[in-house]
Amino acid sequence: MPDLDQTVRDIAEEMRARPDRGEVATYIPELANVDPGAFGIAVVDAEGHVAAAGDCDMAFSIQSISKVFTLTLALGKIGDRLWRRVGREPSGSAFNSIVQLEAEHGIPRNPFINAGAIAVTDAILSGHQPREALGEILRFLQFIAEDPNISIDEKVAASEQRTGFRNRALANYMMAFDVLENPVDYTLGVYFHHCAIAMTCRQLAMAGRFLMHGGRNPSTGFSVVSPERARRINAVMLTCGHYDGSGEFAYRVGLPGKSGVGGGILAVAPRKASIAVWSPGLDASGNSHLGRIALEMLTQRMGWSIFG
Ligand code: GLU
Repeated sequence: MPDLDQTVRDIAEEMRARPDRGEVATYIPELANVDPGAFGIAVVDAEGHVAAAGDCDMAFSIQSISKVFTLTLALGKIGDRLWRRVGREPSGSAFNSIVQLEAEHGIPRNPFINAGAIAVTDAILSGHQPREALGEILRFLQFIAEDPNISIDEKVAASEQRTGFRNRALANYMMAFDVLENPVDYTLGVYFHHCAIAMTCRQLAMAGRFLMHGGRNPSTGFSVVSPERARRINAVMLTCGHYDGSGEFAYRVGLPGKSGVGGGILAVAPRKASIAVWSPGLDASGNSHLGRIALEMLTQRMGWSIFG
């Protein structure tokens, strides 16, 4: 097996040399201020060794990657009842599409498109004040990443609060079908803020460890979720984690993964590695262009595809 540290360094160098970078997301104005040339990668292997390179310690907006962690929390809170309010089928439409909501009586297709993630956030919020729910999400991330320095980028949150008209439309539409339980502004406030959590690749790869270890945090030995739940979260990541580019990601990379419009991707090689990559330029499906290419190289060189 090739040396992981060397492989990660090689990939970071190859990515930096490439002229093709994709387009940085600008629909959330604050995201446009990021350096389009940034590239970071961090890999935690099964023994807990961290291999990292490039801008692996630069914090970026995790955006939709937060949806993996809110799904984990909501399943912990209300269990499989969550699946009455959100489906688990790939969508084939854009991440912010409203079309399917109409066809499916306000039930979002999966927890990773915006509508689904808003419904999941609403489930976490029930019985709490928005501040408490947000605190719970942030503390959960700090706990699983073993890093108290993870925080919310308030500028990004405010920027999305000002411009998130589509998400407001999705939430109101679901409200009309009684899919949401809390005031729309409360649910959206929590949603915008958890999307605005800033993390480095190193922190994100650490946070993903429980998904490679059957739900267990390897350094404390404690279970974050049951093995069955970890397996199922990975399944939803594989089928729905990359918007309508999920099939392409499974084909090329062969790992459960979740991307965000900030240009990050968290990918899980079960029993082998938790991987975070970041490059802000996106492809036409809204996934990190170089992030996806880097993951394809990594899984090929390490032989990590779940498909053998
Ligand atoms: N906060 C972003 C939105 O709702 C998340 C999008 C994403 O990363 O897919 O538009």
